[in-house]
Amino acid sequence: MKTGLVILREQSGHETGSHPENANRFPGVLDRLGSDSQERGLPILDSREAEVDDLLRAHTESHVENVRVAAENGPTWLDGDTVASPQSYDVARRSAGASLVAVDAVAGPDPDLASAFAIVRPPGHHATADRAMGFCLFSNAAIAARYAREVLGIDRVAVLDWDVHHGNGTQDILYADPSVLFISFHQWPLYPGSGWVDEVGVGEGRGFTVNLPMPPGSGDREHIEGFEGVAGPILDQFDPGLLIVSAGQDGHVADQLASQNLTAAGYHALAKAAADFAARKGIGLVALHEGGYNPNTLPLLDHAIYAGLGDFTPDLSGDTPAPEVGDNDWPERLGQIRRVQSAYWQV
Ligand SMILES: [Zn+2]
Repeated sequence: MKTGLVILREQSGHETGSHPENANRFPGVLDRLGSDSQERGLPILDSREAEVDDLLRAHTESHVENVRVAAENGPTWLDGDTVASPQSYDVARRSAGASLVAVDAVAGPDPDLASAFAIVRPPGHHATADRAMGFCLFSNAAIAARYAREVLGIDRVAVLDWDVHHGNGTQDILYADPSVLFISFHQWPLYPGSGWVDEVGVGEGRGFTVNLPMPPGSGDREHIEGFEGVAGPILDQFDPGLLIVSAGQDGHVADQLASQNLTAAGYHALAKAAADFAARKGIGLVALHEGGYNPNTLPLLDHAIYAGLGDFTPDLSGDTPAPEVGDNDWPERLGQIRRVQSAYWQV
């Protein structure tokens, strides 16, 4: 069983101009990952269009209709950061559809891949049930999780989000749902402002949202400690039938949208930890692209992740080194996270 890519040939149809989330993010990524996958004989799958019913498992009818009409009349700004251009509705449906292709490939009735990395835009994790925000139109991760639950009949699905921003949209959609575990690493404080340790879910979903708000300046070490100390043990106890990763690489030291110090080696280690977990449980893993806004570093970072999923050694030369950072609030923060989560899990 091997890893594969899902690509979105129509991605440039979602036109955002000089916005950080633009069509120039991925050509370099697709060149580098595409040629490596060819050399290794690994598959590249095409996206498909998600059906409206697929979107409605995570979003309200009025939200889906708003995005469709905004695109039809586009360019339309849906919030201060989020634009719909004339093809955006179709491209966003294909972005969500790519996540479903990835889920089918690793967890469908006849899975032929252990993992799949979907290189998709627009990203999804800020889109709530009823609104677009933060460059996101539809929550690809929540749509994929609900598809796995309701169409494929997988009892429990986990979503691990390591984008530097809190995945507020995915959290919003899944907040009361005990069948989908949501774990988010994110810089705190930072946009969108949510994701403190005490946001743990509501009603029957209480305990199934896990937030790791990372102090500014956190890098590879802090993220790996957070995985080993909190995310990994909780994933293990939750025992999902599918793992979805919201893979945003905007916590990289050379990404301008935040102030974290992750390196390519750190992203490789996180991807490998996720893949090792999935392999140990014998479950499929889907990684969905979220943020990452430096087109010069993104090919390297996404290759580091692809290699972590496929268990091969990437060439990480050319990465920006992380600065030496002294003590920060991380040890205390990790203690806080553990104290909150120990009401629900052994951590
Ligand atoms: Zn982000």
